[in-house]
Amino acid sequence: MNRVTVIAHPVVQHHLTVLRNHRTGPEEFRRGLAQAAALMVYEATRTLPTRARPVVTPLEKTRGVKLASEVLLVPILRAGLGMLDGILRLIPEARVGFIGLKRSEKTLQASAYHKSLPEELGSFEILLLDPMLATGGSVVAALDLLAARGARRVRLRLVSLVAAPEGIARVHKRYPDLTIFTASIDRRLNRKGYILPGLGDAGDRLFGV
Ligand code: URA
Repeated sequence: MNRVTVIAHPVVQHHLTVLRNHRTGPEEFRRGLAQAAALMVYEATRTLPTRARPVVTPLEKTRGVKLASEVLLVPILRAGLGMLDGILRLIPEARVGFIGLKRSEKTLQASAYHKSLPEELGSFEILLLDPMLATGGSVVAALDLLAARGARRVRLRLVSLVAAPEGIARVHKRYPDLTIFTASIDRRLNRKGYILPGLGDAGDRLFGV
């Protein structure tokens, strides 16, 4: 799975363990997810292209860089919201789009009930945020929306705290080049589509309902 980067950083793994604990309440869960997400994005943005930008210090002119493209963060509602604040502390100039998806009980297909995105995405480096990559249905639907607006595949990255092998396989079947950043590839999904061992319903744990 070379298009999956597992972030084994001890601080990320520490936060993940706190988040997995069924005794962790919403306040601690929010804080832990924000911190883990920021550290994961530190890794996920390591390969962002830069451009030379000279800078004048109080003493002399020197070489510097700036990010070559704007960064667009796209949390999938609602659990993706829990990753946003921590990441914005790292990249405050990023733009933010939102995708909300619901699943038809008949067809089981995910469709958007909300999307707010720039019209044209070809110039952005995009980080799609969903703490749980479970069946992959929502992530694939979100990627389809981004692709329909011109997102360039090489400029898309998915950041998911926990990933199930089933979700990784589904996403990579449709988007083979997508790099997935995760803190853990867990064992499998249960019959209800929850990740095992996972951390439960990330949205419920974040928001307490
Ligand atoms: N979504 C969650 O929040 N948790 C899971 O285990 C699977 C999907």
